[in-house]
Amino acid sequence: MHNVVIVGAGPAGLSAAIAAAAAGAPVLLIDNNPRLGGQYWRLASDAVGEQGGQHYDLATGLMLINAVKARKEITVLSGAQIWSATHKDGINTLRVIQNGVEKIINTANLVLCTGAYDRTLPFPGWDIPGVMTPGGLQSLLKGHGVLAGKRVVVAGSGPFLLPVAAGVIKAGGEVVELLEANKSNRWLLSPFVMLENIAKLKEAFYYIKTISQAKVRGRFSSAVVAAYKNSEGILESVDVAKISRNFKIKKVRNVKCDVAAVGWGFTADTSIAGALGCSQIVAKDGGVVVKTDENQQSSIAGIFVAGEITGIGGAELSMAEGVIAGISAAQFVGCKVEVLKAHRKRRAKKQRFADALIKSYPVKAGWITWLNEQTLICRCEEVSTQDLKQAISELGATDSRTAKLLTRCGMGLCQGRICGRSVVDLVASELNISPTDTDRISAANRPIISPIPLGVLAAGE
Ligand SMILES: Cc1cc2nc3c(=O)[nH]c(=O)nc-3n(C[C@H](O)[C@H](O)[C@H](O)COP(=O)(O)OP(=O)(O)OC[C@H]3O[C@@H](n4cnc5c(N)ncnc54)[C@H](O)[C@@H]3O)c2cc1C
Repeated sequence: MHNVVIVGAGPAGLSAAIAAAAAGAPVLLIDNNPRLGGQYWRLASDAVGEQGGQHYDLATGLMLINAVKARKEITVLSGAQIWSATHKDGINTLRVIQNGVEKIINTANLVLCTGAYDRTLPFPGWDIPGVMTPGGLQSLLKGHGVLAGKRVVVAGSGPFLLPVAAGVIKAGGEVVELLEANKSNRWLLSPFVMLENIAKLKEAFYYIKTISQAKVRGRFSSAVVAAYKNSEGILESVDVAKISRNFKIKKVRNVKCDVAAVGWGFTADTSIAGALGCSQIVAKDGGVVVKTDENQQSSIAGIFVAGEITGIGGAELSMAEGVIAGISAAQFVGCKVEVLKAHRKRRAKKQRFADALIKSYPVKAGWITWLNEQTLICRCEEVSTQDLKQAISELGATDSRTAKLLTRCGMGLCQGRICGRSVVDLVASELNISPTDTDRISAANRPIISPIPLGVLAAGE
């Protein structure tokens, strides 16, 4: 048995590993990426080499990565995908696949730092090749030096659109449109938080400088509401709409492009925590996150959680939480160490910034009016808006879970990771009710954390 097992080697997991190791606890750090760093510090493969200028503050990331590599108390398991997690009698059993071979890891002390993934909203044509998430586009750039297309539309909502647009420009692409669905002045809702987190403003200006030097003008209250393919079935253009406060379409124009990177912030990846039985709650942005106490402990003793699985808040909040989770986990295994007031103060400051983020970039219900009857909601199982509506009007579904059972939406390869949140909203809207927390939490959980080859399953214990 390992003393402290940490899942996820992003800002939260790296910080947790260093904090636990510094307290004297042997650590096993597991991540499915081949390299340490998580999403924020996604490093390029050796074959590609570092992609100049794709990272902001890579120095902090490299410092943490090198510190993890240098500590003899930390063992790293990279390229290792956890596909199943169970909790029984105080022991957590993780099933991990590395190089096609399954390993089973048992531990009483676990720190989950599994991060988040892009939030998508369906719209007509969102399944056309060439429509992707900003995170997907950035991962190709940062990790492989690949620019997904020459003329790129970057759209959706949230500050993440800025590094993505800047990254496209730095890689030699053209940002033909940069569209933020919300108004430009929403940050004024939280003036003190802006002043308190001046470093985040500096980061935003770093991206804005690149964007404005390329003469790209960001447009607010605007969104991509439909995509069209050419005769080869590949993205050719998108409809860009001026939208109201509630995201209802006002005026549409068509824009030619090779790639549309459309994203609506992030969704916490609570899959492992959910499978283990950790309590989850619905955050202010409607996303499901893992519930934690002031020491980053989940509802299960010995399972600690840090970073974006506890709420979307950026890399700095993830690091602040990671340190506290690492110290708490080390304390749990008997190390003489404690969380200091300064650690809690740093976390509180970053948490205020995260709250301001949610206030500034809401996703309003009007997006549902962009759909037509044929729009696919679940791309894996090809379930359309009409199929979902029929499950309600003709088959009598009165909640999203029943609609899922009747249509198979959310039962495909991604197990609802992509469509689950939208299905809950759509079903509730059709029934003219508000989604319940139970609906949201049920859509965020899945028994199998990631798809695995049948051969591995058959050969397993
Ligand atoms: C694609 C993407 C790109 C982003 N880019 C930026 C950016 O440029 N700037 C910015 O400010 N913010 C960015 N963010 C937001 C960013 O995720 C956070 O601010 C920060 O990285 C969160 O840190 P974290 O440690 O909580 O999680 P992450 O950095 O997401 O790290 C979580 C790690 O856990 C691993 N993991 C998850 N599940 C499993 C499993 N089952 N088995 C094994 N390993 C697992 C993941 O692969 C990942 O490496 C991005 C988010 C995404 C999704």
